[in-house]
Formats: sequence, C-alpha cells, structure tokens
Amino acid sequence: MHRRAFCKTTLAAAVAAAIPGCGQDTAPKATDIGSLIPAVSSAGQEISLETAAIGELAESLSGHLYLPADEGYLAAKRVWNGMFDYKRPSMVVQCVSTADVVNAVNFARDRNLLVSVKGGGHSYPGKCTSDGGMMIDLSQIHAVDVDVDGMSARVGGGALLGHVDGATLPHNLVTTTGTVSHTGVGGFTLGGGMGRTDRMTGLAIDNLLAATVVTASGDVVRASEEENTDLLWGLRGGGGNFGVVTEFVFNLHPFNPTVYGGDLIYAIDRDFLEFYAELLETLPDEANIEPFFAPGEDGNMIAIVGVVWTGDHAAGEKALAPMLAYPGLKAGKLGPQSYQVIQTAWDGLTAHGQQNYLKSGFLNGLTPEVIEIMVDFANRGTTASWFQHLGGASSRVATDATAFAHRNVAVNFGIQYASDDPAQNEVGIAAVREFYNALAPHMAGFYTNLNEDTEKKIWGNYGPNYPRLVDLKNQYDPTNLFRLNANIRPTG
Ligand SMILES: Cc1cc2nc3c(=O)[nH]c(=O)nc-3n(C[C@H](O)[C@H](O)[C@H](O)COP(=O)(O)OP(=O)(O)OC[C@H]3O[C@@H](n4cnc5c(N)ncnc54)[C@H](O)[C@@H]3O)c2cc1C
Repeated sequence: MHRRAFCKTTLAAAVAAAIPGCGQDTAPKATDIGSLIPAVSSAGQEISLETAAIGELAESLSGHLYLPADEGYLAAKRVWNGMFDYKRPSMVVQCVSTADVVNAVNFARDRNLLVSVKGGGHSYPGKCTSDGGMMIDLSQIHAVDVDVDGMSARVGGGALLGHVDGATLPHNLVTTTGTVSHTGVGGFTLGGGMGRTDRMTGLAIDNLLAATVVTASGDVVRASEEENTDLLWGLRGGGGNFGVVTEFVFNLHPFNPTVYGGDLIYAIDRDFLEFYAELLETLPDEANIEPFFAPGEDGNMIAIVGVVWTGDHAAGEKALAPMLAYPGLKAGKLGPQSYQVIQTAWDGLTAHGQQNYLKSGFLNGLTPEVIEIMVDFANRGTTASWFQHLGGASSRVATDATAFAHRNVAVNFGIQYASDDPAQNEVGIAAVREFYNALAPHMAGFYTNLNEDTEKKIWGNYGPNYPRLVDLKNQYDPTNLFRLNANIRPTG
C-alpha cells in the first residue's frame, strides 16, 4: 500500500506508530510496540519481521504493500490454481515499477525472507505463492508498447498474454502467445512459451530480444544480444531463476489475424491417432493441429481437434482437406476465423479458482505403443488430455542455443484434472498419474512450466544446458533467493 493507505490499515496502531509522522504525534520506537510479524525464511525456518522495517518498505514503494489483515490482501495474493490459493504470504508487494521490485528484492534478501514472484499467477504447481514468504506481485506492470515500424513490443513483466495479443493483432502483427489469454507473459516466456503460431514464429523465447532484470543483488541488468548475452540465454527457458523480469522485448511477425481453421470432432481410436501421427509428420509449418480429449455431449470421450492455419487460406484449404475427408469425422467445419476469438475461447473453461492438477511430457511422435496407451486411457473418461503441436520453426533452433533444450519434439502432451470440488482431488490426481505413468517411458522430457517434479528430474530435464545454467545461477543468484521455480541450485 502507499504510505497513507498503509497507515490506515493492518497493524494500524502498532505499525503506524513505528513510522514517524504516521498517525501519531510522537513516533515511538518499534521496540516499544513489540511489533514483529511472523514470516518464513528461504530455508523454511520461522523468522520475525520488524513492522517498522515493513513500514519503511511500504513507504519506499510507488505501488502497494499488503499485510494479511489488509483489505485487498486476499485479492492481491490470489493465484489461478485453487489448490494453492489457501497459502498466505507474510506480505504481498504489489510493484508498479522496476524501482519497487528493487526495493522488495533488497528487503527480502537482507532478511533472508522466502520470495515468490507472481507474473500472471498461473503456475500449475503454485510456485508463485508461499506460506509466510514475500510475494512480489507484478500484475500492475502490464503495459504493452508496440513499435509497428520496428516490429517489436515492449511488454511489462506482469502482463497477461491477452494484453499482448490485444496490442499486436490490430497492427496485423503477432508474437507467440499461449492458448489461454489470462496466462502471464512472465512465467510463460521464461519457461519456453508455446502457442498456436510457434511452428511459424518459434517459441516465445525465440522471439525474446531483450529483458530488464532485477537480480538477487538488487541490480537492474539489461539482457540482450548486445549486453549480458549469457543472461539472455538463461532467460530463454531457465525460468525465474536469475531475477525478476520487469520488461520483455519481443520480436513481432506480419500476421493475418483472420486465420483459416475451426474445431473438428473425431472418435478417439487407433485409426484416428494413426492419421494424426501422419499429419504431424507431413503438414507444413502453417498448420497447428491440437486434439483435446474430453467428454462429448453423450458422455463418451471425443477428440475435439483445434485447427489453425496461419498462412494463405487457399493453401490451408488444400493442405487440410484430408482432415475433412477423413471418414471418421463426426462434426465440425473449417473456414476463416478470428485468431483473437480462438485465443480467448478456452478462457472460461480455465477460469481462476478451480482445483487443477497436470502432468505432461514431450513426445517425438506417436508410436504404436503410445497410440495404444492413449486410446485406452483417454476413453476411460477419468481425465481430460491434450496435445500442443510443436516442430517447425521451434525445432530449427539448436539445443544449446537457448536454455530450453527440447527442440526435436513433435508434441507436448498434457493430462489434466480440473474440478470445483476439492473432495474430488484424490481420485482426479490419481487418474492423471496413472495415465501419465503409462506414457512416461515414451516421453522425451517435460515442460518445466507445467510439472511439479523432484529437483533431480528438473535438473536432468535441462539436458546438456544444465552446467551452464548452474554457472549463471552462481553469478546472478548465489544464495538462491529465487528458488520457488523449476529451481537450479547454485553451487557457491
Ligand atoms: C490455463 C493455462 C493455460 C496455459 N497454456 C499454456 C500454453 O498455451 N503454452 C505454454 O507454453 N504454457 C501454457 N501454460 C503454462 C504456463 O506457461 C505456466 O503456467 C506459466 O508459469 C504461467 O506464467 P505466469 O506468469 O502466469 O505464472 P506465475 O505463476 O505468475 O509464475 C510462475 C513462475 O514464473 C516465474 N515468473 C513469472 N513472472 C516472472 C517475471 N516477470 N520475472 C521473473 N520470474 C517470473 C516465477 O518463478 C514464478 O514462480 C498454461 C497454464 C495455464 C494455467
């Protein structure tokens, strides 16, 4: 909160008393009021924070600081996955500028306070929040500034994907954003960033030209192809390990925001998946074909296949004709579609607050064994599951060119549980794990943005890039201040 608001709210008398001139004629010392608030250190130990110091931090901000009893705290700490929304950070620092982030980082580092960073708040495993730590909330740093002539966009570290599409598409320009518009640019980009255009335009990280980063030392560092190139390399897939990004700069591509596409419905059987496997091998980069396995109106499981063709419509009609001619097509048609409508179509289904659990992995292709497992588990109807179509431009980048190592894969396959009812969690999670465990031996790593996994699995998942990431971690965050992420441990 701003200084004035801070004086009015939580710990009102006690904290205000500790801040000179804040609601008291004479300002007592913090020790007089014995005001310490409980918090948690990075190592998970209970610590106490002096309210006077918190007051000073609040005063230093152009944004707001919320303590648990403050009006606005619950909204400020809110995260997308209802499974983790119960967590109560000791404070939420809602930053509006890079300077605010610097002040928050310095405060937390000096006190060894646990830190989480919230961009859009969509971490499946709830990494953006904690019990007892400081949440650095970037949601108010969301401006998008499009340079039409320069074909680039400057994007605030807490912007949502919808902010980006909303600013670029009216100029017939695009960069890679994901499938749900209320997802955050921050976590999305730092983990890789896959979307419906990535086969044409590369992953979000392949379009990342530069970033402004507040490192663990509180320094503001620019990473680009000209300066701190090693840091730019690490931000391209190394997650939130190296600091808080307050601004991203993305490359933009010419784009017709009326694409050719639609939803086509098929039965989930071996024939269909063999047909899909063939499409994966033969379709050009303009095609993005993503089956989603879910119950149909009659309760039976169906494949709802989202089709987006990002090139010339006549060429798309020709290339995708086999999908319409396929004898097992149950319903659906293809035609001109607003890309922005497609990009927001899943927003309601993935609304904030549901219980969500997901396991996913990359597949190099659909072998007969994989197809058999998918047909069996998908038709059980115990989980939903989906494909993200990869390859194309995103696979023409060398494995070691960015921290993200999974370049030669055909799809990302996700198995998910979502419910409004926490009582269903145990059964829902078990069903996801059962399906995943059957497929896991066929998977080629996973997307760190989606999975909760052991540290060892995460380290292995960075592949040959891991040692370089450790070097960067040692350089930019030697005490592992930024640890609530797909964590790379510094080695000193
Ligand atoms: C509904 C839904 C749809 C999705 N669809 C896609 C998709 O189409 N393609 C895809 O690639 N992924 C997708 N994802 C996964 C998504 O990329 C991750 O969940 C990602 O973490 C979301 O970013 P966020 O900023 O909202 O997350 P947050 O929870 O805010 O952040 C996650 C982590 O990222 C880091 N972080 C976030 N912002 C910053 C920043 N500015 N600076 C430093 N660190 C930061 C922090 O370590 C934080 O713990 C989807 C997720 C959801 C929930």
